[in-house]
Amino acid sequence: MSATPEPLNAALALAATGVPVLPLRAGKVPFGNCRACKDNACGGRPNMKAVGSCQCPAPCHAWAAATTDPHVLTSPVWAAVWREAVAIAYHPGGAGLTVVDCDSAAAVAWAREMLPATRRVPTTRGEHWLYQGVMPSANAVRPGVDIKSRMQYARWLGPGTGRMAVLPAAVRALVVKEDTTPARGEVASSVPARAPWSREVATGCRHTERYVRTGLERGLALVRARTESGAGSQAFGVARFLAAQHTACPGPCGLGAIGEAIVTAAVSVGVPESYARRAVANGLEAAGERAA
Ligand SMILES: [Zn+2]
Ligand SMILES: [Zn+2]
Ligand SMILES: [Zn+2]
Repeated sequence: MSATPEPLNAALALAATGVPVLPLRAGKVPFGNCRACKDNACGGRPNMKAVGSCQCPAPCHAWAAATTDPHVLTSPVWAAVWREAVAIAYHPGGAGLTVVDCDSAAAVAWAREMLPATRRVPTTRGEHWLYQGVMPSANAVRPGVDIKSRMQYARWLGPGTGRMAVLPAAVRALVVKEDTTPARGEVASSVPARAPWSREVATGCRHTERYVRTGLERGLALVRARTESGAGSQAFGVARFLAAQHTACPGPCGLGAIGEAIVTAAVSVGVPESYARRAVANGLEAAGERAA
């Protein structure tokens, strides 16, 4: 009996379902590039951001080497690598997926509160939340949360449980590129300086004015505190959180006015207005708000 290395068996089974896979070495990281590909001297593979012509048969360039081809996976040059492999990874983007990697109990708690239910895979410290759909990857979009999709690999830790949902706006909004250029006077001048929310525009809201105003002020303070970075994402989160408080109201609740106040706060700490508007609109939409 010829012993096939265990990670290779798992890799072949996964590849057969259309998921591009690659081996991981001790430390659970990809194998280094071969000499010809060292430091990207080859120019990189055709599917990389800087498109290169590398045809290297070895599993070089980390995620970019991931493949579903069983002939490549079992080729002599990969076979030598599989013998040292301790785990496997996959390229989520190549499989049409996005992984929200929650790397702490707090990050998982945040996902449970803010993201739609989907398939979840337990990890060493947290959970992978898998969604159907592809987006740019980004690390540390929130404390303990990475987005792994395009041009990234994720450890394969089993199929997980739960029905996979379509990638929601709430996740896409975490990675919208933020321009952190400091606010200039003229940038903020186009938006109202004061929250126009009032009881008069919220005729169908079942909350007290005090409840709505207190929640709004707390949310605005969170956005204004993000003077270095992340104000756009924070604006999204605040909009979603506040809008979610009104899903049981008959409406209207004046959510448009609340959204304007959040946009103003985000612009005041340097978020470009168009981005702030998009983040807030996405947040309101993500909460499943009714007509404001
Ligand atoms: Zn190579
Ligand atoms: Zn190469
Ligand atoms: Zn309401």
